[in-house]
Amino acid sequence: MEVKTKISIQKIFNDNVEKAVFKALELINAKKVMTKEGMTILIKPNILQAKPPERAVTTHPEVIRAVIHWVNQFNPAKIYVCDSSGGAERGITEKSMKVSGIFATCEEEGVECIPFEKTKTRVYHVKNPLELDHFASSSLIEEVDLIINVPKIKTHGQCLLTCCIKNMFGTILRINKPKTHAQFSTLERFCGALADIYSVSRPQLTVIDGYLCQEGAGPSKGDVVKLNLILAGFDGVALDSVVCKLIGINIDDVKYIKKAEKKGLGTTNLDHVEILGESIENVSRKFKLPFTTPISVPLPRFLSNFVGNTLFKASVKFNPKKCKLCSTCWTSCPVDAIKPPAIRRLGNVPSWNRKKCITCYCCAELCPHEAIDFKVDYLKNVFLSITELF
Ligand code: SF4
Ligand code: SF4
Repeated sequence: MEVKTKISIQKIFNDNVEKAVFKALELINAKKVMTKEGMTILIKPNILQAKPPERAVTTHPEVIRAVIHWVNQFNPAKIYVCDSSGGAERGITEKSMKVSGIFATCEEEGVECIPFEKTKTRVYHVKNPLELDHFASSSLIEEVDLIINVPKIKTHGQCLLTCCIKNMFGTILRINKPKTHAQFSTLERFCGALADIYSVSRPQLTVIDGYLCQEGAGPSKGDVVKLNLILAGFDGVALDSVVCKLIGINIDDVKYIKKAEKKGLGTTNLDHVEILGESIENVSRKFKLPFTTPISVPLPRFLSNFVGNTLFKASVKFNPKKCKLCSTCWTSCPVDAIKPPAIRRLGNVPSWNRKKCITCYCCAELCPHEAIDFKVDYLKNVFLSITELF
């Protein structure tokens, strides 16, 4: 008889996050991964940016608290809560941990909250790489007994969705993130690299924060959705697939999910998944998608690259009323496509180099003042594409 992978879906009632987390974990019999007393546990939230919990950019601290309480029942020796935020600013992960409320929660619970970049690092070699054959990350990934992934459901300008697999991009050390984006400049290749990164950490357990989510211009300036859900499971590929169904995304449009399946990291076939608790149909809610949504038109690769990189190429727009000239965008751009204005005075904005830009959307994702938008100017794109041909 086929053994299906179990995924639980629980509603959060009256903001009682802990009750939903405990129930979700009970339904899948998550305690089977707590194999002994005195285990060392690594909890990996999404701490993308220094934003408060109500903005729904980072994993909600109450979800982290609930996971810590659940783990504590099994007398662990040590719990770490780690991540590496985006952006070139020194100390940005510590700042994000504080502003997101996760640092204070860990302090209250007696748990160590530490940026990956402050731990010992080592180089990991990827088995059967699709794109990335090795990368540097924290030695904790191989030293701990168990990794619990605690991602958040958000739409994503470049990849369409960020949840389980994409959350493990946070195991890449802050300073190496732009390099990885630049190395795999097409969405196709970047998604292969994401599957490679996930294959190294491959969390044994995942608890998804579907409490406050982001739709539209996620993952940092989207609209907040109070979805009031917790999902739990062991297979991150299956969980990402369920989340797609839940929020109305075509699984094939989130390219890293199929790539992770191809690497044997889980299943996208929901016939092989047993849903416990709420049914997907009962709690589904269609999310607004980023306007930069990749188009799933079956074109030959050279043509889809041409169409994506020319006709549909989005232009970066800086909002002079919001820009504080903080330098985050030009120091974080992986290909040096943004330059500061010649005169650094409020009201002036950075400049953008269309040719260099690989539309990774990192600048918009990381701008602390939500001052960057993307626009597709088809007419201008047609004109530029023609002139670039000659
Ligand atoms: S656009 Fe945003 S990230 Fe760039 S300098 Fe202005 S405020 Fe900073
Ligand atoms: S300009 Fe923005 S979208 Fe373009 S490559 Fe740089 S960070 Fe990425």
